[in-house]
Order: sequence, then C-alpha cells, then structure tokens
Amino acid sequence: MADLYLPGGKLADQITLTGLTATGYHGVFDHERQNGQEFIVDLVIHSTFQRAAFSDDLSHTISYADVADRVVEIIEGEPVNLIELLAERIADAVVAMGAWAVDVTVHKPKAPIDHTFADVSVSVRRTSVLLQSPKPAAQVVVGIGSNLNDPVTQVEIGAGKVARILEYERMSNTRVTSAQVMPGTPTQPNYINAVMVGYTTLSPLALLAELQRIEDEQGRTREERWGPRTLDLDIVSYKINGHEILSDDPVLTLPHPRAHTRDFVMGPWGEVDPWGTLRGKPVRP
Ligand code: ATP
Ligand code: MG
Ligand code: MG
Repeated sequence: MADLYLPGGKLADQITLTGLTATGYHGVFDHERQNGQEFIVDLVIHSTFQRAAFSDDLSHTISYADVADRVVEIIEGEPVNLIELLAERIADAVVAMGAWAVDVTVHKPKAPIDHTFADVSVSVRRTSVLLQSPKPAAQVVVGIGSNLNDPVTQVEIGAGKVARILEYERMSNTRVTSAQVMPGTPTQPNYINAVMVGYTTLSPLALLAELQRIEDEQGRTREERWGPRTLDLDIVSYKINGHEILSDDPVLTLPHPRAHTRDFVMGPWGEVDPWGTLRGKPVRP
C-alpha cells in the first residue's frame, strides 16, 4: 500500500513484519472449520520513532514482538468466515496498540479454489482517530407536518425516523395549526407541525430522497398538491459552514420557498435553534 504522510507532510516511520504464520479455522466450509489451515500476515505499522530514537527505550515504540503475539492470538482465535474480517480485526488490534496507521495483508495460500494459484490475500488500512479528519457536516432544518391518520403519532414516528438520518438532532415541541387554505383546495383537518434541526453528511438531494422514503413509509400519497397528508417532510434550510445553500430547482428549492412566511415552521425552529437564520434574517426576531 502507499506510504502514509503525516499532517505537515512528513513521511511516517514504518515497522514492517512479514510472513507471520499461524493456523486458524477461518472459512465458510466445514473442512476449513474442522481441519484449519495456514494464514500468513504481513504488516506495516506507521508511527513515529521520534521519541524512541531519542530515548532508546522499548516502551516508547510499539513492540513488534507484542504485535506478533497479538496477531497470532487473533489468527488462532474465534473463527470467522472471511479473511476480510480477520484482516480488519488484526488492523483494529494493532491500532489499539498505539499505531497511527497499519496496513494488514492476510494471505490464505491454501484457500478452497479449484484451480492452480499461487496465493490469495486481502489488504486493509486502518488509521487511528488521531489522524482522521472530521467530515464537514451540513446543518439542516426539517419541517414536519401531518393532518391524516392520527397526526400526533405520524409526527412522532416521522421524527423518530428523521432523527436516525441526522446527528446531534434537536426536536421542537409540536403545535396544532389550522390548515392553510391554498388556492383551489378544500378545507382540511388541523395540522400537527414540528421542526427538527440537526447535522448530516448527506447531500441535499440524498437527504430529500431519504425524507421522501420516510414519507412513503408512512403512507404518503401525492394525488393533489397541498392535499391532506399522513406525513410531510420538507427541507427548510441546508447550510454548510454556516452558508445557506441556494437552489431554485423545482425538485429541491432551497431554502424552502414558503417556510419564512409560515409561523408553524419559524416558531418551532426558533425554539430549538434560537440563533438560527433564514435568508440572512434571525429566525427569532
Ligand atoms: P410546500 O412545499 O408548500 O410545503 P408540500 O410540502 O405539500 O408543499 P410536497 O407535495 O410535499 O409539497 O412536495 C412537492 C415537491 O416539492 C416534491 O416532489 C419535492 O421534489 C419538491 N420540493 C422542492 N423543494 C423542496 C424542499 N425544500 N423540501 C421538500 N420538497 C421540496
Ligand atoms: Mg410542506
Ligand atoms: Mg413537502
């Protein structure tokens, strides 16, 4: 695998251990589980020798003898079906021993393949959390509404499902609103409305697709625009690094073109996000 560069551009130091061999019982076939076979592991541990090179003290580096013991323990341990999982277990264990990153290759030269072959192997790289950058997440505001089939329960179930696709989400109180009479539509039962704010790494269209999937699961039908509905989930606002994403695409208009005029959106939003803004204006005047 490729070299590992540390933040700042320095090449990480490496400890390489190859051909570490032990018998394991991994595989999907009964004979593999009963008779076992040889597994061979190659490792490249990426770290820094800065401290150890200065102190000449084994406790300041990762002991390759200890790593070898641990890897053999895993190979000889609980059987798994796939060497992919075995490689991942080994990589996680070596990272837990203090590696900044590790490349693990697991060879299974006696794998059940009905042809002549030299070797089969899988390779994974795992990095310590110290080297992982947090993904930038968008801050989103989702409007939730229902006026059919027990709206209080619909909003509760819908919100629970939306919470599963967001991080650090906060849910407003629900409120009852009489249905807005949109041009050309008959009167409707009252709405239950709420707002959920949270973070996501889903793109705007991927988030819309997820929300529509949840609407569909709750039996949403779309016969008439602005008709009564079991569940309506709208993206009110989607911000990256505090910047509002703007779109005039009819499939996804951002920010939501009518939300700023709707008390049943702005009220609950201000409750859970008092410093929120929409179209550059504070949500709470
Ligand atoms: P309103 O938009 O006035 O609240 P509505 O929520 O009842 O009306 P829907 O029937 O749920 O409207 O959606 C109609 C279409 O609006 C959807 O197919 C969707 O592609 C589109 N749409 C555009 N912008 C958005 C948005 N910000 N959030 C959700 N849907 C949107
Ligand atoms: Mg709506
Ligand atoms: Mg909608």
